[in-house]
Amino acid sequence: MSNDQLKRRGLMLVISSPSGAGKTTLARMLMDEFEDVALSVSATTRDPRPNEQDGVDYHFKSLEDFRALIADQDFLEWARVFDHYYGTPRADTVALLKAGRDVIFDVDWQGADALHDQMPNDVVSVFVLPPSIEALEARLRARPGSTDETVARRMADAKAEIMHWRRYDYCIVNDNLDEAYQQLRRLFLVERTKRLRQLDLDAHVRQLLGEG
Ligand code: ADP
Ligand code: 5GP
Repeated sequence: MSNDQLKRRGLMLVISSPSGAGKTTLARMLMDEFEDVALSVSATTRDPRPNEQDGVDYHFKSLEDFRALIADQDFLEWARVFDHYYGTPRADTVALLKAGRDVIFDVDWQGADALHDQMPNDVVSVFVLPPSIEALEARLRARPGSTDETVARRMADAKAEIMHWRRYDYCIVNDNLDEAYQQLRRLFLVERTKRLRQLDLDAHVRQLLGEG
């Protein structure tokens, strides 16, 4: 379906944060409330956590399979984060946007930059900050499957991710989860109202002007 047959041009909501700040939790809350919001399910070479399902949280891949996907240009973007590879499948994203869905991307700053470069008019980017470094560590520890080693590695990399906060359109401090969610929800609704995303407005205005 071409864009002009759609009522809305779906937005690409890119959410980044240091690991553990709460971006996955916030993204899932938005999907629970709005049925036409979908999550881009990335591929990764890291092992699944105990609560994660293949095809739902990630497409879990061997390094060899991931390299083959890179070679076939199957990723819209991919990056090495911590000691693993992560990538956004191209075909899935294109299909969701063509179906008029808003798509959430949970990617690091490299992924946010790459998606913005490719689709600057469609990307809206949000950075989620923790209320404190102590709270971030506590959240990482509380996450299923965490070990001293994974927490230490992610804490060491947190500052490197936080340094990129200025690249984003919006920033949310996730202290109280409900308040943080309300901020995300508000900006999402405002962005949806942008004239360029409301593809049916042309016809509506023509009708108002008696030109339809
Ligand atoms: P990320 O996707 O940014 O790595 P998650 O969404 O997985 O982070 O959240 C990390 C942990 O912190 C999860 O156990 C989640 O339930 C918890 N969490 C998220 N937001 C809050 C909050 N505002 N207050 C307390 N705990 C939170
Ligand atoms: P986690 O292992 O905690 O699920 O994710 C680690 C980091 O990788 C997070 O910052 C997350 O946003 C990022 N990430 C997940 N999927 C992708 C992806 O497809 N591309 C990029 N660039 N980063 C990703």
